[in-house]
Amino acid sequence: MDERVWEERWHPLREEWVIIAAHRQGRPWSGETLGASGDEIPPYSPDCYLCPGNARSSGQRNPDYTGTFVFDNDHPGMAPDAPTDLAPPPYPYRNRPANGCARVICYNPRHDLTLAEMPVPDILEVVRVWQQQTRDLAGRPEVKHVLCFENKGQAVGVSNPHPHGQIYGVNFVFKTIETELEASWRHLGETGRELFADIIRAEQADGRRILYEDECSIAFVPYFARYAYEVYVAPKRTVPHVYALADSEAESLARALKDVTVRFDNLWRMSFPYVMPLHQAPTDGADYRAFHFFIAFHPPLRQPHLLKYLAGPEIGGGNFLSDTSPEQKAAELRALPSVHYKEGSGTE
Ligand SMILES: [Zn+2]
Repeated sequence: MDERVWEERWHPLREEWVIIAAHRQGRPWSGETLGASGDEIPPYSPDCYLCPGNARSSGQRNPDYTGTFVFDNDHPGMAPDAPTDLAPPPYPYRNRPANGCARVICYNPRHDLTLAEMPVPDILEVVRVWQQQTRDLAGRPEVKHVLCFENKGQAVGVSNPHPHGQIYGVNFVFKTIETELEASWRHLGETGRELFADIIRAEQADGRRILYEDECSIAFVPYFARYAYEVYVAPKRTVPHVYALADSEAESLARALKDVTVRFDNLWRMSFPYVMPLHQAPTDGADYRAFHFFIAFHPPLRQPHLLKYLAGPEIGGGNFLSDTSPEQKAAELRALPSVHYKEGSGTE
């Protein structure tokens, strides 16, 4: 049997697609060991496949980029040329080609920076790339949904410190967004109001969990946080996609992202790991005016070296059991300086 199977398989019990991308097994793994944090990271690494001028495993060479840099993932989970000659599975199973597009976005030419250490104008450039890429991929007929995300840190399996994220354009709508869409439509029908706007109002009325707020953006530990240091960063105006933000809103979003990521790093004076997805409406041309674009940070750590393991309730049951109080965790983050500990004068 060919084990290089590359297709989407329907999960009939969860009613969702599973991407099987077994052809990616040969992708490069820079096997840096855990516990290497604290080592000095150089601004350029000759071994890094994301640094300017370096060659990637595909043999292509990165340009000497000076800002952001986007390229098609050399080992994509979904692609325009994914196999189409799939063997049909027996009933009740379904499969189909993993048709779509996967890209990598380098945030900065500097190997040793993260969002938290980048100046706001550079973060704004990342926001602009999310806008361009979402628009670009949305224009492809096969793409129904664009997921921009960043996996950061060894705790979430990323050993290369070069600041980068990924962009998936897929031929289905991701389950989380599907659930949020249904809830948003139902809330709109029942109350005449937008659900996320009501969430923002509830957070403002309480106030204890808000980390950052200006005219256009807000960042908070949600009342219902599933992870200890979970944070939502959102524009105040309801827009379904990142590209619908006005310039002033995009700038505000960049400031909010800077503030939150700096607090994260200051918490334990270390580069703080997280999974950060952009929650955007689908791009299939339907009406998504009830959907409110936002960015979520899901940090896996509860303490400096203690992971929140997804176990029985989360993996088995599909619901989270949190051992921490969102109000207490928000208080910890609120008490921290909004200047990065490496940028400070050395005084506390
Ligand atoms: Zn690099």
